[in-house]
Amino acid sequence: MNIPLFDPRREYATIKNDIDRVISETLASGRFIGGEVVRGFESRFASFLGADAAAGVNSGTDALRLALTALGIGPGDEVIAPANTFTATIMAIQNVGATPVLVDVDPSSYMMTPSTIEPAVTRSTRAIIPVHLYGATARMDKICELARSGGLFVVEDAAQAHGAEFLGRRVGTWGDAGCFSFYPSKNLGAYGDGGAVVGSNGLAEKVRMLRDLGRDEEGNHVEVGINSRLDALQAGILDVKLAYLDKWIADRRALASRYDEAFAGTRIVGPIKPENGTHVYHLYVVRVSDRAHVLDAARTAGIEVGIHYPVPVHHQPAHVGRVKVPFETPVTEALASEIASLPLFPQMTTDEQDRVIDIVHSAVGG
Ligand SMILES: *Cc1c(COP(=O)(O)O)cnc(C)c1O
Repeated sequence: MNIPLFDPRREYATIKNDIDRVISETLASGRFIGGEVVRGFESRFASFLGADAAAGVNSGTDALRLALTALGIGPGDEVIAPANTFTATIMAIQNVGATPVLVDVDPSSYMMTPSTIEPAVTRSTRAIIPVHLYGATARMDKICELARSGGLFVVEDAAQAHGAEFLGRRVGTWGDAGCFSFYPSKNLGAYGDGGAVVGSNGLAEKVRMLRDLGRDEEGNHVEVGINSRLDALQAGILDVKLAYLDKWIADRRALASRYDEAFAGTRIVGPIKPENGTHVYHLYVVRVSDRAHVLDAARTAGIEVGIHYPVPVHHQPAHVGRVKVPFETPVTEALASEIASLPLFPQMTTDEQDRVIDIVHSAVGG
């Protein structure tokens, strides 16, 4: 591919000295699991968000799984999540033995809202997982209000939205727990797997115990946990990259607004601007009715285009018959056949972007 969706080698080249230094320091320290580097990153990531505390874990999927466990959610419980999301959101619910209840999304945000959530609430509902999709923000004020009135927990899936703000407050800090992924392509990515749960000191404490085989501060194994620790090399790399995150978000926004301008007045429907929120453009997702034509043109020109997500999650074999879908999900179904993610990453050049724009323009006829 000439123009990729994301290029980790280019990013590394811009921060090579800092990264190489933290890697060699960590190797020299001999402390590869836990320790000062992990604690330092956890506390700086929590301050970046304005959260009380953060607990580093092995992936975004484990962050969701451990947040649900820490809140006491398990077999017999229902958890409401959007049908328009990545499978990890749903599988984490299944991993704790609870039942995912999938609801449709709003056509004006591609995310679930109180009006799509509320009819799905039953006596077994214990939690809601809003997903801040593509780097935009879900309606957290209204979702938290609905949850509070029903005595439900809110676990935010912020795997795509590090740094996005809703009503001036960073996402991940609205609910009872905020879950982040540091998968390499995410806006804050490790050079391997990683994730974090943010929330109150009590919640972070509980996740730290669960991620380490249920071990407490005295070294006793007091609960059945899992092994899902964030290692020191990844924490050190993340700590270096955290210092660049605000700048990289600004770079993403600048590229996004160039795309917005170029596609205004064409048949391309650009990303939705969140109401009362900011967008960090993890993905630049457009909607176009004859998508196949655009995909063909881009691929022929060596431009990578993604689809997030081509198959609604409840049609995936792992979930068919194992999740509840109480109502039809026409918006999710329509999106799956019309959305396309165009290349956008902080190190992308404007020349590259102009090439993408030209190809898309000619595919949709101007
Ligand atoms: C990436 C992602 C996850 C899972 O993160 P991993 O670190 O890959 O386990 C969960 N939810 C969403 C919406 C994601 O995009």
